[in-house]
Amino acid sequence: MEKVLAVIFSFIVFFVGLAFLITQRWGLGLLLVVVSMLPLFMAFRKRDPVIVEQKIAIGGEINPRLLKCKNCGAELNKEAMEIKLGAVFISCPYCHSQYQIEEEPKW
Ligand SMILES: [Zn+2]
Repeated sequence: MEKVLAVIFSFIVFFVGLAFLITQRWGLGLLLVVVSMLPLFMAFRKRDPVIVEQKIAIGGEINPRLLKCKNCGAELNKEAMEIKLGAVFISCPYCHSQYQIEEEPKW
């Protein structure tokens, strides 16, 4: 919804700026054309951080029992967990092994 409004707003400002350019008022025309790009830029740029936050929230549901290194058995804190592409990876600070956590089946 916000995107649609941003696009409509951009088009209106862009064409008003274009009208100024056609009537040879270059300064104001160029200013409006540049300003018309800003809402588009803002609306389409904001999305990425939101997706990253959702992925990190999944990490809170992992069973503490799984936080042991498969390789050397050392207990791992949450700082050893890393979320890549929606999956949780462990990098052990003791033996430096890296592997992916399989999610525990829920029944
Ligand atoms: Zn280890």
